[in-house]
Amino acid sequence: MIDKHVNFFALQKACEKPGCPLCTIINERIDRYIDGMLFEHISDRTFRAQYKAAGGFCNRHSEILLSYRDGLAVAILGRDTLQDYIADFKKHRIRKRKEICPACKEQSRMEKEFLTFIAEAKEANISTNPQNNEDIPLPIFFVKSQGLCIQHYAKLITFTKKVPKWLKNFQEKRFIDLEERTSRFIDFSAWGRQKDFESLSEADKVVWKELATTLRGEVK
Ligand SMILES: [Zn+2]
Ligand SMILES: [Zn+2]
Repeated sequence: MIDKHVNFFALQKACEKPGCPLCTIINERIDRYIDGMLFEHISDRTFRAQYKAAGGFCNRHSEILLSYRDGLAVAILGRDTLQDYIADFKKHRIRKRKEICPACKEQSRMEKEFLTFIAEAKEANISTNPQNNEDIPLPIFFVKSQGLCIQHYAKLITFTKKVPKWLKNFQEKRFIDLEERTSRFIDFSAWGRQKDFESLSEADKVVWKELATTLRGEVK
């Protein structure tokens, strides 16, 4: 069940932070998801079976396990995987994994849910005078954020048939601006253009960092 209010407030909060709001949400929620899996669902047969079929979490999500305090939960899950490998080694045949990493699966589910939610937000009527936070239309606070990273905007295009105009204008203008600033950075980095380079703003001098983050996204 999608809780629209919870999603709305989560987005509003994430939009106040630097970086892609959806990356922020994913980072917070995946931590919570793995935490919940370890503490509550370790005895859940469905989860154990899924985890087993996937051969454990992927590299990226296994990293999170190392920082958990509950060593017993990590040991119980890890032993399942280890036993499967030992059995495979004996037979000299490595089994095919039928499931993807459960945390990756959960991440895709959340991304789809939030991207659909954002894409469904109607063009806001800016003349309305919000009385409290709940009345602020999504597009109004969303365009004050840094916007979606390339990865998440590309997924949004894949998931939704029609991207609302306010979102398309906002996102694509940001990417075009970034492209222009990157081109200027490249041009001014040429030999003999030190003076032009010096004239760049501090942010523009390191635009390649911003580019790398925008391309990759900030999901841990
Ligand atoms: Zn993102
Ligand atoms: Zn994963």
